[in-house]
Amino acid sequence: MPELPDIKLYLHALRPRVVGRILKRCRVASPFVLRSVDPPISALSGKRVVNLRRLGKRIVFDCENDLFLIIHLMIAGRLQWREPGAKIIGKIGLAAFDFENGTLLLTEAASKRRAAIYVVRGEDALRELDPGGLEVLDATLAQFKETLQSERHTLKRALTSPNLFSGIGNAYSDEILLYAKLSPMKFTTSLSDEEIAALYDASRRVLTEWCARLIDQAGDEFPERLTAFRPEMAAHGKFGKPCPVCCTPIQRIVYAENEANYCPTCQTGAKLLADRALSRLMRGDWPRTLEELEELKARERAIVSGSTPSTPSPKISSSTPARSRSRPSRSNSPRDGRE
Ligand SMILES: [Zn+2]
Repeated sequence: MPELPDIKLYLHALRPRVVGRILKRCRVASPFVLRSVDPPISALSGKRVVNLRRLGKRIVFDCENDLFLIIHLMIAGRLQWREPGAKIIGKIGLAAFDFENGTLLLTEAASKRRAAIYVVRGEDALRELDPGGLEVLDATLAQFKETLQSERHTLKRALTSPNLFSGIGNAYSDEILLYAKLSPMKFTTSLSDEEIAALYDASRRVLTEWCARLIDQAGDEFPERLTAFRPEMAAHGKFGKPCPVCCTPIQRIVYAENEANYCPTCQTGAKLLADRALSRLMRGDWPRTLEELEELKARERAIVSGSTPSTPSPKISSSTPARSRSRPSRSNSPRDGRE
């Protein structure tokens, strides 16, 4: 986060505001945010922005004299468009870029500072910052297949790996895998040609639809509320909510610094994926299918109400007491920022 549709939205909003304009001055509040040394950021002062482009999840300002300003928002970095000369905002403000018609602010509301600014000279230096992932919207099925199977990973890992695929992160990979009807934990090397084609089609469809939706929703406004959690999403951030395809409650697994949200009916043949931390905690007593989960929940409800369940409930409610009670509290909120 932000991912390809979010970066495209920023480019859409920035283009009429900064292309052709002179970057009068750059103000950097947090020295840590500037990750390059030569040329100095002051070299950009007085240079005209001639174009904007995207490099993976980075925003690139092409400036005169072969200079490039690169902003990498990482997870919590955001942009704001303010009146000319606007102040850098308190603790979250990292930098300001002053144009005659407005000031672009870079903020990061997070304890860990990850957002980064680079200034480089020349296309070769710019290329060195390119993680090299395939642009799915420009790729043929054959190119997609070759990239996908070039390394053995789970699909979730492969899709979100910036050196394999460009601009796809935690949110849109959940959406893509749901519509491709593929498990996030399936391996790239064990896919049929039909499954690869389904993944290719779903990737292109999800990214195209979301780029159009975000730009349509923003109109001419500068996007002030960029979030990885949107009501129209099918799986991402929808733990416990019904899958829009089949109404099964969306499940999630949390691992390392990431999480995957998925529909067991659409994606995993009704099997629940094992959450390693949780299955350790429950010492292997972990429901493996939706039926087992339903029985477990019916038993829990019976214990709470003091009665014995006659039949398991036909529906799973949006909360899963067995999971949430046993789970370490930090695992209860999505890793990328909100619930
Ligand atoms: Zn489903």
